[in-house]
Amino acid sequence: RHTSKRAGDQRISVCVRKRPLTHAESRKGEADVVTTPGGECVIVHEGKEAVDLTQYILQHRFYFDQVFGEDSSNEEVYHRTAYPLVQHIGKATCFAYGQTGAGKTHTMLGSSPRRPGLYALAVRDIFAHLSDTHTYSRLLVYVSFFEIYRGQLYDLLDHRKRLFAREDGQKVVHIAGLRDVRVDSVSSLLEVCELLLYNVNELTVKWCKITKLIKMCMIHVCTRRMWFVDLAGSERASDTKEPDRQSRMEGAEINQSLLALKECIRSLDQEQSHTPFRQSKLTQVLKDSFVGDSMTCMIANISPGHLATEHTLNTLRYADRVKEL
Ligand code: ADP
Ligand code: MG
Repeated sequence: RHTSKRAGDQRISVCVRKRPLTHAESRKGEADVVTTPGGECVIVHEGKEAVDLTQYILQHRFYFDQVFGEDSSNEEVYHRTAYPLVQHIGKATCFAYGQTGAGKTHTMLGSSPRRPGLYALAVRDIFAHLSDTHTYSRLLVYVSFFEIYRGQLYDLLDHRKRLFAREDGQKVVHIAGLRDVRVDSVSSLLEVCELLLYNVNELTVKWCKITKLIKMCMIHVCTRRMWFVDLAGSERASDTKEPDRQSRMEGAEINQSLLALKECIRSLDQEQSHTPFRQSKLTQVLKDSFVGDSMTCMIANISPGHLATEHTLNTLRYADRVKEL
């Protein structure tokens, strides 16, 4: 079933990234149950108990366009996922998907300014590429960052101001009043990212329990748009021990978004006339990315620990279905 097309020819690529065990996980003696043999296979080793109470290991094997092990750097992941999108002339979208704590933000934003994530690496190459063909002063690159929480949009570069998406007469979706900041170098983007990290930390006190946020970064390069989406934690509300009303509502909203997203991405490859982009705010905002000449990459982030096995399998199954035609 696995396609052998070169990454550059594919409109949709689905990849997996396994993070290393954290120090805390290692200290607690958590076992690493994920292996990544070759560059396209990932195996989850699940401990099971037989009827006669003997132990056995069940192996779940999945194949993807690319699989990155715990030793892969952001630079390497970037090079083989988002870099082809940067080179692509049309629209491009890159998603990070997975359980809370699996490494989505580490991949997209980075963990520190000295170890940047995909946003900054993409901007670096946008400058490198376009400075060959454009005079520097005419190279207009703008970035916007916003968040979707329970179907509503909030501007991350403008004190979480509430925003509204509207469709114009040509059925193009615009986000009215979304702040965009011009960046003229990688370091100016890193400053914006740092501000974002700071803002996120500052607001953590209030938002610490909320993992059902979708963080979106739009990079505007002259007339084209690139999207980077740090999706909300994919674990379901019912997984928490005592889901309250709020977390159930958040969970329902996210499930709806992830379902709609899967359908929209799949319709890209199927020449389907009906794309269900109206079914969630996420897909509505991304409407442009699901039609015409667009490229999409999904990075499914997974934790290696045995306590996360259930979530890891759910993440891999979702990613598998995005790819399945
Ligand atoms: P998420 O955004 O999916 O909730 P994070 O990106 O915040 O997860 O990652 C959780 C923790 O794991 C953070 O402390 C982060 O620095 C660390 N981490 C994630 N991915 C990696 C990686 N590839 N290498 C090293 N540490 C990582
Ligand atoms: Mg995160």
